Amino acid sequence: MRYNAWQILKQGLLGNTGWTPAWRDPEPKPDYDIVIIGGGGHGLATAYYLAREHGLTNIAVLEKGYLGGGNVGRNTTIVRANYNLPGNSEFYSHSLRLWESLEQELNYNVMLSQRGVLNLCHSDGQRDAFARRGNSMINQGDDAELLDREGVRRLVPFLNFDGVRFPIYGGLYHGRGGTARHDAVAWGLARGADQRGVDLIQNCEVTGIDIENGRVTGVQTTRGAIRAKKVGIVVAGRSGQVAAMAGMRLPVESHVLQAFVTEGLKPILDHVVTFGMGHFYISQSDKGGLVFGGDLDFYASYAQRGNLPMAEHVVEAAMTLMPVIGKAKMLRSWGGIMDMTPDGSPIIDKTGIDGLYLDCGWCYGGFKAVPASGFAFAHLIAQDRPHETAARYRLDRFRTGRGLMDEEGTGAQHNLH
Ligand SMILES: Cc1cc2nc3c(=O)[nH]c(=O)nc-3n(C[C@H](O)[C@H](O)[C@H](O)COP(=O)(O)OP(=O)(O)OC[C@H]3O[C@@H](n4cnc5c(N)ncnc54)[C@H](O)[C@@H]3O)c2cc1C
Repeated sequence: MRYNAWQILKQGLLGNTGWTPAWRDPEPKPDYDIVIIGGGGHGLATAYYLAREHGLTNIAVLEKGYLGGGNVGRNTTIVRANYNLPGNSEFYSHSLRLWESLEQELNYNVMLSQRGVLNLCHSDGQRDAFARRGNSMINQGDDAELLDREGVRRLVPFLNFDGVRFPIYGGLYHGRGGTARHDAVAWGLARGADQRGVDLIQNCEVTGIDIENGRVTGVQTTRGAIRAKKVGIVVAGRSGQVAAMAGMRLPVESHVLQAFVTEGLKPILDHVVTFGMGHFYISQSDKGGLVFGGDLDFYASYAQRGNLPMAEHVVEAAMTLMPVIGKAKMLRSWGGIMDMTPDGSPIIDKTGIDGLYLDCGWCYGGFKAVPASGFAFAHLIAQDRPHETAARYRLDRFRTGRGLMDEEGTGAQHNLH
C-alpha cells in the first residue's frame, strides 16, 4: 500500500479500516543467502540497501526483541554532517545526503526536520577550532556558518550569554542538520526492506554463530538453526557479546547513555543547540517536549537505564546554559547501550572469518549514520570490498594504531569519550 493524501482521505471515509500491516511477520526459513543480526536502524538499512542497490532479496533480519526497540528508538534524533576528520567527514556528508531523499524514496514520513544545529563556543581557542571545522565541512560540500555572539542571540535569545564561567562567544551553525523521528526511521526502512522481499523476523535471538573451516555457515537462534552464506553483525551495544559467539574480542566497550524529556511546552527552541563547555545538548520535539542529554554514565554496563549522578550532572549543565529550563517539569528519562570504540569512530569491515561481516562502534552518534552505514555495509557484504565512504572504518586500525579517527582527541582513554 502506498501512502499518499488520497489514501488518507479514503481511509478516513472508511473509518481507518483498510490500512494493511506495514510489513509481514514471516516464519524463518531454514536457509538464506544473507542473515543480518540486529533489527535496529543499521541492520534494517543494511537489508534495505542490499535489496535496493544490489538486487539481493533472499535475506533475513533477525531481531531478538521488536523492530526499533533498541537504540534506534531511544536516541535524541540529531542528524548532522559536521565532522572534521577525513574518514568521518565524507561518510557523514554522504549520510546527510541520503537522509535528504529518504522520505520520498521510502514513501514514509520520517519527519526529517532540518532545523539547524548550533554548536556554542566559549573561548577564543574553541572559536578557532570551530572555524577550522566549519572550513572542512564547507570543503566537504556541506554548509557551515560561524556566528558571533549577536548572531547566536538572534537564534536563541534566552541562553545565559554572560555566565561568569562560560560566557558565549559565538557558535558554529550547520543549517542542514536537525532531527528526524527515530522510530519512524526504523519503521520506514523495515517497510522498504519488506516490500523488496526481505524477511524481518522478530523475537528471534541469535545465540550462536556456526563456522566451518574458517567460513561462516549460519546461526543458531531461539527459533532454530538458520543456514546462511553470509552473516552481518549489526547489534550496536551488544556487539561484543555477539562477536564473542564467533570467537572474536572487539575493541568495543558498552556504556549507558541517558536522555531526558520535559513536559510538552509551546515552541521555544527552533534549533538543536549544544553547550561547548559541558556535555549537554537540547532540542524541542514536535510534541513540545524539550529533549536533552549529556555524557555517558562512565562505566561499562548492559543496563538500559541511567543513574542519578549523571542525571544531576546533565541538569546542572542545562541550568548553566539555559536557566529558563528550571521552570519545566521533567517527564521521563531513559538509557541506551552505546558501543564505544577507543577512537570514537565506527567499524564497517570484514572479519577474519569468511562470510562474517561487522558493523559496530557507533558510540553516541549512530542515528545520523543510519542511511550511510546501511549503504556502506550492504556494499561490503554484496561486493566484498568497502564502499569508498567507509574505507577507513577498518577493524585493524585498533591493532596497528594506524588510521585512527579521533574527533575529540580523547581516544587513548575510553572513559574520556
Ligand atoms: C540516549 C541516546 C541518545 C542518542 N542520541 C543520538 C543522536 O542524537 N544522534 C545520533 O546520531 N545518535 C544518537 N544516539 C546513538 C544511536 O542511537 C546509536 O548509535 C544507533 O541507534 C545504534 O545503531 P542501531 O540503530 O542499529 O542500534 P539498535 O537499535 O540498538 O539495534 C541493535 C539491535 O540488535 C538487536 N540484538 C542485539 N543482540 C541480538 C542478538 N543476539 N540476536 C538478535 N538481535 C540482537 C537489539 O535488540 C537491537 O534491536 C543516541 C543513543 C542513545 C541511547
